[in-house]
Amino acid sequence: MPFYLESLTNLEKEIVSYLETLSIYDCHEHLPPESSRLSRKPDAFTLFSHYCQHDLYTGGMDKETMGKVLWQPGDLDWKWRTFEPFYRQMKHTSYCRAAHITMEKFYGEGELTAANVHAVSERITAANQPGLYDCVLRDACKIIASINCDGPLEDTHGGRILQTVRALDELRTYEDVLKRFGDGQTPVGSIDEVLDACENFTANAKEKGAVGMKFMAFYIDGAMKEDAAATLAQMKADPSLTLPRRNPLNEFVLTTLLSMAHDSGLVNCVHTGYWNDYRELSPANLLPFIIKNQDVKIDLYHAGYPYVREAIMLGKVWPNVRMNMCWTYLISPRFAFDALDEMLEMLPDNKIFGFGGDYYVVEKVFGHLVMARETIARVLAKKVAEKTMSLDRALEIGRKMLYDNPREFYGFKE
Ligand SMILES: [Zn+2]
Repeated sequence: MPFYLESLTNLEKEIVSYLETLSIYDCHEHLPPESSRLSRKPDAFTLFSHYCQHDLYTGGMDKETMGKVLWQPGDLDWKWRTFEPFYRQMKHTSYCRAAHITMEKFYGEGELTAANVHAVSERITAANQPGLYDCVLRDACKIIASINCDGPLEDTHGGRILQTVRALDELRTYEDVLKRFGDGQTPVGSIDEVLDACENFTANAKEKGAVGMKFMAFYIDGAMKEDAAATLAQMKADPSLTLPRRNPLNEFVLTTLLSMAHDSGLVNCVHTGYWNDYRELSPANLLPFIIKNQDVKIDLYHAGYPYVREAIMLGKVWPNVRMNMCWTYLISPRFAFDALDEMLEMLPDNKIFGFGGDYYVVEKVFGHLVMARETIARVLAKKVAEKTMSLDRALEIGRKMLYDNPREFYGFKE
């Protein structure tokens, strides 16, 4: 048993061992094409990029320095000296834990030190060659397919990567409208032109094999087509006008895309909670749309942290909403444990998707998956110990979360 699972009880270990045998669906990533990862020059610090950088930044590291340490090739000794005081501050966070589990698995060290920073970097360089994605996703994680965000539609990695497209959002100025719905220059005159562009955008995504459209949650104030048209006219009349994201045009476009995506057979993947101004990303904000559109499939991401109960309520009440635990075990295993514990008391077992790595750096998917299995096992073991379910039933639920549920909701064939 590797060091990161040593603290589990025997029952928890038994459940983890079962979960490790499963081929699974990975319900959310941000993976660039393997070729663009291979064209970079990763080093030991690459493992502390992406989410760890939040803890480096909020701990006090300035963004420019962080960019040099994490995202650019450079002198390793300088990088280590610069990184080490901030690393020392955030070594205990769950973001960092995923990095450590990852580093131990692929590069043989459980923590970065002055003594191993060169060796780890050499090992990462050596592993940065064709086959890296299969080595991590297929071999180490047993991932059948990863539902991916922000990648090019053509990048399917032989079917292992399933792309989603970002909804057309952030329409605050007339310039935004021109960029999103036209070539950036030709005037966009009417709301019907906007709707045609939305239609084409959605059809193109579907045609090129996308499986979903990704949204950030948003406020719904009931904007109708006339309201959106009036906002568009206002923007056009005054190109210097900058509106907040919460405006009738933006809202109307987003609600229209939710319906269009559904009509074309795409799942709506909706980020809820945690991110910049997380108040507008509360899952409860989606309620007016969900009440009116109870057939539109919504894959609700991140359990709405910190609005976890608002998220669970949507899953509890509406048949078209699924709870996606992507990113949650990284944000906080405590929160993920409590959320899952409560969900299993409230939801039928087809409602939860157990894992989405939510990573840019492919190796880190493994670190997160270990943490996901560990938390899922802890929750299931608790239920077994409390005698609210048998071990067989617990294992069945674990399998459904990691395999059957996303497969059924997205209509995957394998
Ligand atoms: Zn994400």
